[in-house]
Amino acid sequence: MTPKANPYRGKKTVVLGLGRSGIAAARFLLRCGAHVTVCDSGESEVISERAELLRKEGVVVISGEGAAGDPAHYEMAILSPGIEETTPLVLNVKGKGIPLIGELELAFSLCECPVVAITGSNGKTTTTELTTLMLQGAGLRSASCGNIGTPMSELIMTGDVWDVLIAEVSSFQLETIKTFRPKVALWLNLSPNHLDRYPSMKEYREAKLRIFENQQESEWAVVPSGNDLPELKARSLTFSVTSPEGDLTLQGTEIFYLGTPLLDLSKTQLRGPHNAANAMAAFGAGIALGADLRKMGEAICNYTPPAHRCEFIGERGGVRWINDSKATNLDAMEQAIRSVEGPLILIAGGKDKGFEFAPIASLVRERVELAILIGEMRHRIAHDWEWTPSVIVGSLEEAVTLAAEKGREGAIVLFSPGTSSFDMFRDYIQRGETYRRLVERLPH
Ligand code: ADP
Repeated sequence: MTPKANPYRGKKTVVLGLGRSGIAAARFLLRCGAHVTVCDSGESEVISERAELLRKEGVVVISGEGAAGDPAHYEMAILSPGIEETTPLVLNVKGKGIPLIGELELAFSLCECPVVAITGSNGKTTTTELTTLMLQGAGLRSASCGNIGTPMSELIMTGDVWDVLIAEVSSFQLETIKTFRPKVALWLNLSPNHLDRYPSMKEYREAKLRIFENQQESEWAVVPSGNDLPELKARSLTFSVTSPEGDLTLQGTEIFYLGTPLLDLSKTQLRGPHNAANAMAAFGAGIALGADLRKMGEAICNYTPPAHRCEFIGERGGVRWINDSKATNLDAMEQAIRSVEGPLILIAGGKDKGFEFAPIASLVRERVELAILIGEMRHRIAHDWEWTPSVIVGSLEEAVTLAAEKGREGAIVLFSPGTSSFDMFRDYIQRGETYRRLVERLPH
């Protein structure tokens, strides 16, 4: 690849948002020789500490009310994914016609290696970790970045040389791309999510579809077979866990590529059809990049799935307890229910994110013996699942206590909330850790 030219030297830039990606973008721009201002309308101790750090490095930081001041003198703006395009800060910048991109676009514009980009409503983090580990196993210098934690610009600034970067990309990040053009785009699935930010599924889908927007025939799209995606320019590779129609297919627990066995999933810690799909998509990235598939398959056997995703916590009195706190939408909850066998007690509920629980009522009726409901949505869920025995409780602690009382030998207690945590917890991690602590306190 020919080195990309740096268009940011001497430019007056403004970064909107002082989160991790905003900080990374500011440092990246400084490194490129730009004049950098960071604006954040928040005022807190964390923001003051971050501002102080950046000021020492030569960044101008404006926080609080002053952040929405006149932006006319900036030549370009970088928007953090957490900030909606309708906030005064952003409207101000847009109103002046200042070009606006996201941190992903900024980093990509100077990225010298191919990028595998992974999107979907569910499974992004798992598949990003899997793909990175498997490609590393196949001898490619690769690292994960994006939504998973490390912003791409932070990785590029290390100066390390990569064969490929694996980026987890959310719909929010894709909203602000321009030239972003992954060598391989993985589209895992699409189901209702973030409907508190998007007016409807249409806008959410359109944001996600931008992952393919700049791809050409020389690039690859790894997509579910039988999907309803628009016609894509990139070469496509398909996967399916249910149908034999696909380049990558599943027979029993074994993954096949064009009829050749690649991997027996029973040798791995990946459980459930959703994780089979994630593994297939990761193989898809390897096929597109010409990686050694046997070595990729060997690497997956050492993979431990991330915490809070159908995570087995332990057994108490013959009952198995599972923590799926990361299930923040219905599809993730459905996959969790489908991936366990045995009498099932489900603990669900949380913040109202703008969707109903009715679409999975029949699966819940079929599979769940008792639903214990918590959070802002608990009454609505009970209404949606009227054919399933359910109990409404006031806290996660009460839910765990009740589940321990009701669970008989051989049962499974699955905590898969199906919505986000912000009504009761800081985030899904705190929610999952609370559940783990409560379960660990139960007698053996
Ligand atoms: P994301 O990064 O997209 O949120 P994660 O890998 O963190 O995805 O998983 C989030 C939730 O979705 C977990 O509850 C997990 O069990 C579930 N999940 C993982 N992969 C899939 C998939 N392919 N389809 C549906 N649900 C999935």
